[in-house]
Amino acid sequence: MKIRVSDIGDDGLHIETRRDPRWLDNIPELWSGNEEMKLVSDIDVDIELTKVLREVSVLGNLSFTIEAPCALCLEPVRLDISPDIRLILSPSDKIDDDEDLDHQTYRGEDADLGDYLRELIAVSLPVKVLCREDCKGLCPECGQNLNRETCECGKKWKDPRLAGLEKFKL
Ligand SMILES: [Zn+2]
Ligand SMILES: [Zn+2]
Repeated sequence: MKIRVSDIGDDGLHIETRRDPRWLDNIPELWSGNEEMKLVSDIDVDIELTKVLREVSVLGNLSFTIEAPCALCLEPVRLDISPDIRLILSPSDKIDDDEDLDHQTYRGEDADLGDYLRELIAVSLPVKVLCREDCKGLCPECGQNLNRETCECGKKWKDPRLAGLEKFKL
């Protein structure tokens, strides 16, 4: 996603754009062939660019929706994700250090936000998705989704620690 630094006026520049999911084909976690986690929406980009001398600040956010199986019951879960964009673009000959903001350099008049945005998406993906906080998961014996129905397995199964304790009944 390219921006022209000379297009940013004194009042800044507001960019709202929508990207096709194919834009992400080089994010291995999300490429369209991945069964585990997939993107199920376009990617909305909403940024405000302001320029001070030759330094450009890019603030805004991305938003998109992913679908992934619940880590416990494997039901598909949809999740809206909207990471903040906080980036400073500096001409390649000048870099300031500000630990709260990401930095990238540009040459000439063109800056490409593509790599930064793709990386932002990759790092904002959850490691684990749950359908709900108290998901009961699948029965390890029969595979029943315990959020929907109970099974008899739990009743037959005795906790070996409790079985040990039974010997010491008073
Ligand atoms: Zn679940
Ligand atoms: Zn069961």
